[in-house]
Amino acid sequence: MIQRRKTRQVTVGDERVGTVRIGGDAPVAVQTMTSGYTHAVDTCVAEIHKLTAAGADLVRVAVPERKDTEALKEIIPQVQVPIVADVHFHFQRALEAIEAGVHKIRLNPGNISDRNQVTEVINACKERKLPIRIGVNEGSIIERKDKQKRMKELGGVFSNQKHGHFLAIMITKLEEYLDIFYDNDFYDVVISAKSPDPTLVIDAYMEISKRFDHPLHLGVTHAGPRETAMIRSCVPLGHLLASGVGDTVRISYASDPKFEVEDALEMLYCLGLRERKGVDLIACPTCGRIQVDLYTLVQDVRSKLAEAIELPIKVAVMGCIVNGPGEAEGADVAIFAGDRRGIIYVQGERVANVPEEQILETLLAECKKFEAKVKSGEAKLGEKIVEIAPPDPIGELGSGFDKIASGQVDKLTDLTVGGE
Ligand code: SF4
Repeated sequence: MIQRRKTRQVTVGDERVGTVRIGGDAPVAVQTMTSGYTHAVDTCVAEIHKLTAAGADLVRVAVPERKDTEALKEIIPQVQVPIVADVHFHFQRALEAIEAGVHKIRLNPGNISDRNQVTEVINACKERKLPIRIGVNEGSIIERKDKQKRMKELGGVFSNQKHGHFLAIMITKLEEYLDIFYDNDFYDVVISAKSPDPTLVIDAYMEISKRFDHPLHLGVTHAGPRETAMIRSCVPLGHLLASGVGDTVRISYASDPKFEVEDALEMLYCLGLRERKGVDLIACPTCGRIQVDLYTLVQDVRSKLAEAIELPIKVAVMGCIVNGPGEAEGADVAIFAGDRRGIIYVQGERVANVPEEQILETLLAECKKFEAKVKSGEAKLGEKIVEIAPPDPIGELGSGFDKIASGQVDKLTDLTVGGE
């Protein structure tokens, strides 16, 4: 079990949209950001609904212009999730967003640094008990002209590290900015220190976590398309979270933000940091023993079960019986494929043997039946009734491995369903 670093807790939201706690003993929160214009009220509301349905705990919106903060007045009453206003360049946008009823503000020390302006935002948040995230992201806070000064202050501390000068700039900038908050007796602060470089992300958050007890918002910024950004994000974020560092996450993709939410949740489920919602699907990678179209089957099973099943039922889709029973150990529902057939097990008990075209509907029906039993208290997740007895490769699955072994046929495709 992961021992999480204890941080000061902040609360985001209100009675109407619900509250989300960040830090302390709260589960790691998942956030994302809308991709469209905030001032396009209807599409913005529709996107927020979609992201809430995907499982986002918080949704951030950009407010570059006055018309965006004006739109918040119409957007916020229509949504059921805490909204964070992402403010750049104009501290007035922060004040307008607060006035419009936003639940949290994100400020960037790189472009809103005037002490008086920051103090105005702090006081407005204090009055409404709103937290503020300080984002010292590499791209926006790096003041290269200040490099000498920063290095003099902290450079020695990080001189042995690959990203020494970035760390020195991030930490000294953060310390200076936090002073404004502390001077105003304001502590409901969340910190982020994002970079597109995963190793800098790890180093920066590790250093920050040693120095401050504010909750940390983890992320890799402008990570790229989902295909590569998933690895770029999950490697450093997974490392930090497994080390107990991180209280809220955003995975950033150049893609539909609903994938950011789905993948962030999957990462947290894998680390045991969030209770899984919906099916936990495992599947074999396939190999030369495969005799059904497993890739299509797995995708179909995934999408059908995501719609139909709420409970975290563990489902195993295995291409054959060679390693299947061992690899499906612990699954509530399992299917082992044979030659264009599949045998389905529930809690270790064999319940069906069907041709390939019926595997999906039978598996779905068995999952629904099992879920109903769990809900009624008749069955328990993760509990087997009997140990899986592997099917007979010829009689039941027609997979014919024994015929190959005995030299009766050369290849699996020489066999027909049922053996002969
Ligand atoms: S379960 Fe069977 S088909 Fe799938 S990878 Fe393992 S041995 Fe190959």
